[in-house]
Amino acid sequence: MTRLYNFCAGPAALPQAVLERAREELLDYHGRGLSVMEMSHRSPEFVAIAEQAERDLRELLAVPDNYRVLFLQGGASLQFAMVPMNLLGRGGSANFACTGIWGKKAMAEVERLGLPGHLAASSEPNGHTAVPTQAELSVSTDAAYLHYTSNETIGGLEYDYIPQATRPDGSPVPLVCDMSSNILSGPLDVSRFGLIYAGAQKNIGPAGLTLVIVRDDLLDQAQEAIPTLFDYKAMAAAGSMVNTPPTYAWYLSGLVFDWLKNDIGGLAAMDALNQRKADKLYAAIDGSSFYSNPIKPANRSRMNVPFVLADARLEKTFLDEAEQAGLLNLKGHRSVGGMRASLYNAVPEAAVDALIGFMADFENKRG
Ligand code: PMP
Repeated sequence: MTRLYNFCAGPAALPQAVLERAREELLDYHGRGLSVMEMSHRSPEFVAIAEQAERDLRELLAVPDNYRVLFLQGGASLQFAMVPMNLLGRGGSANFACTGIWGKKAMAEVERLGLPGHLAASSEPNGHTAVPTQAELSVSTDAAYLHYTSNETIGGLEYDYIPQATRPDGSPVPLVCDMSSNILSGPLDVSRFGLIYAGAQKNIGPAGLTLVIVRDDLLDQAQEAIPTLFDYKAMAAAGSMVNTPPTYAWYLSGLVFDWLKNDIGGLAAMDALNQRKADKLYAAIDGSSFYSNPIKPANRSRMNVPFVLADARLEKTFLDEAEQAGLLNLKGHRSVGGMRASLYNAVPEAAVDALIGFMADFENKRG
């Protein structure tokens, strides 16, 4: 068996130790004679798995007690709709700081629902190469919340600060953040947010699970005609088990949280490792006249590193040879082209070293 280096943007690499443990526990979970996939979600075994996952996540992120952690479905994309359905029930508008494709999609969904939206800031004028500064955020008087995308997965643009969301009169509005592609990449002050959501398939676990962390006081603002499964309050009251949750994805995510805590040593250690991996790759890109990345250095994503070759005609050869060298999924998003190396938590430093070595060899041969 050979496991190759996987730079996929999502579904992304999972820690090998997690996959090995899942394999060990696959057929017979802890002597119960069945796999986690075959258990009732109401069984004491599964409830214990679910509760342990939540405890570990709360510990990793130091989630304050007045926040609920929800394990949902529908991907981050469903949150584009669920957030306004749950938070605009008492009126007001959804404000957006837009730094790329995902932010734009989140805003489009509010429009689709016929709900009021307001663009508080956009990095479109700079070609999404730098995030808006605090001073550039213009939150509307009627804002119910401000939504932003902490890491734009396609553009490779990451906030280097947590915005302060205040209306023109200085009153605070809840901050809502799509953290799909950088949650758990380092420590986080959850208390700065009203709501955080993330699709699991990058830094959390397999696809099929969506994490929502929501402050208690925001559970009472839903529209009246909201389906039960879209209602945070109903989901919170039922421990995310109004219906059958994605049990295996939940279990595997729990193994990832355990790995982060016990193998990595927590999010500060993860942060240092992620910084080292990203610094190396950007240094290699900047040190060459063959590869380039256009993002302002302070806003370069540590998780998704897009780059282009000086000669775009070599892209296909680059990707083919990379694959032959065991470096998978380096093709950029179909909407932008070029290359993208995603360096999520589970991508080992050795993978980054191998990529940098390959890039140098390729440049020497063809540059
Ligand atoms: N937001 C961000 C930042 C993403 O990267 C993605 C997926 N790549 C999404 C939202 C959409 O996620 P999903 O496919 O889980 O709906």
